[in-house]
Amino acid sequence: MPINNEVTTVGIDLGGTKIAAAPVQGTTLISSEIRKEPTPQANNSEEILDLMAKMVDEISETNEVAAVGISTAGMVNDKGEMIGSCGNIPSWKGTKVKKELEAKLKIPVFVENDANCAAYGEYMAGSGKDYKSMIMVTLGTGIGGGIIFNDQIWRGAHFGGGEIGHLKLHSNKTRRCTCGAWDCWEAYASGTGLNNTARTFMANPNIDNYKLMEMYNHGDTDAIEVISVWHDHVAQGIATLTNSLDPEAFVIGGGLAQFINYPKLNKKVKDKVVDALKPFVNIIEGKLENDSGMIGAACLANVELASQRVAV
Ligand SMILES: [Zn+2]
Repeated sequence: MPINNEVTTVGIDLGGTKIAAAPVQGTTLISSEIRKEPTPQANNSEEILDLMAKMVDEISETNEVAAVGISTAGMVNDKGEMIGSCGNIPSWKGTKVKKELEAKLKIPVFVENDANCAAYGEYMAGSGKDYKSMIMVTLGTGIGGGIIFNDQIWRGAHFGGGEIGHLKLHSNKTRRCTCGAWDCWEAYASGTGLNNTARTFMANPNIDNYKLMEMYNHGDTDAIEVISVWHDHVAQGIATLTNSLDPEAFVIGGGLAQFINYPKLNKKVKDKVVDALKPFVNIIEGKLENDSGMIGAACLANVELASQRVAV
């Protein structure tokens, strides 16, 4: 997608505990100007909106800011309104973010789901920038997903596209997922899923993922077995997505991305996909780490602004 490298936008990453904001020129994050504030925990969304406006105003003192992009948990409709629940920010539900923040800032504001923003960030400025279609898989406490299809975010017909964590791995009713259903991919391949596998295999109810990785790095045979099974779990979901969507690449992000053995995962996925797609399996690690959502939101604002100007 065409991005205007002369234009500076602000990317805001709204999380449950903190809000991060920074200017981004074209696709380049000006990291020396990243600001972070604790997320207000009030029962209404006004304090969050006011704090976002204040952060943008501060950045605007030293930058000519053309637009703002916001990366947020929860589903966002095409009017920049929060629909459905919003993770650990209950007050955010139903907020007309675009309309309310534009009234405060007097510049265009664009709002997008955080997993979609992370995918867009890697696609525009990170590991996915050589591809037209890619799927970002964020392996954290849960699994986040963002699909870039022909240079655009695949939002779905009802703004719920990319919820890949809830693919069904099987129908044995073995593990309950956070969504209430049984045996979603997230219940196995996420950090929570990995921990569940470790506690089952190692008969140790107290083991956490850091201890597990420490044991793995010291050559513990049980830990090696658990990590191998976890790679199988990760591979199962990616193989299903490969067979159904055939993207050019999968980009892995999130806290667990560093624990993936990429040659091993690529091989496991190759073993599971249809023959015609085996030569094209391409799973790589993301580059932008925690900044992907902020950069993606800023890039999206830049591109959306350009397309609006063309339309006018
Ligand atoms: Zn689920």
